Amino acid sequence: MNPLRSIVASLFPRFCYICFAKSDDILCEKCAEKLRDKAVSKLFFPKDGGISRLYVLFEYDDEVRSLIEQLKYEKRKEIAHYMISFCRFVHSNYDCIVPVPLHPVRYRERGFNQSLVIARELSRHTGIPVVKSGIIRKRYTRHQTGLGKTERKKNLEGAFKVSMPERFQKKKIMLVDDVYTTGATLENLSKAFRGYPSVIDGFVLASKV
Ligand SMILES: [Zn+2]
Repeated sequence: MNPLRSIVASLFPRFCYICFAKSDDILCEKCAEKLRDKAVSKLFFPKDGGISRLYVLFEYDDEVRSLIEQLKYEKRKEIAHYMISFCRFVHSNYDCIVPVPLHPVRYRERGFNQSLVIARELSRHTGIPVVKSGIIRKRYTRHQTGLGKTERKKNLEGAFKVSMPERFQKKKIMLVDDVYTTGATLENLSKAFRGYPSVIDGFVLASKV
């Protein structure tokens, strides 16, 4: 390390995002090793999810939750890049990756859509393009946190609208969200497509089910 860099590093030391030990990378070696064990790259077939297949990158636990929360609420985009680097899925047969859209008002409030950030990283990793226009969130919905499955489903009913169906006609699409909780988000989003695409699958960093 050059002298200037070492001075800067001592003034602004980097810490592991999980255990806060000093680390030059997002995670220290110990936490990176643990995360590697949780990178399961599993495929699920949700019964009532509206999607045919669900790709889940990590097992869900407190540490994975903490990383996703830091990505989402502290806008640490580098976490998406880091987590996607563990992805072992081959998605080359999809036409596009579609992030769960945020309502424009929510986007203005938060200034950040974690699903879009994840989708862009997945796109870099797989070479499949991201399509974020043509599907909109037309209804401002209340936060899903704390709601049960039925409430979540109701809360999101009719929340999404495909404004440019021709973009998705007969396409194989991959919907992207941060966490699969009850499946209500991906289910409602896939319903909005009303059979335009030929395949609708989902991808999440982690699943609670
Ligand atoms: Zn650590």
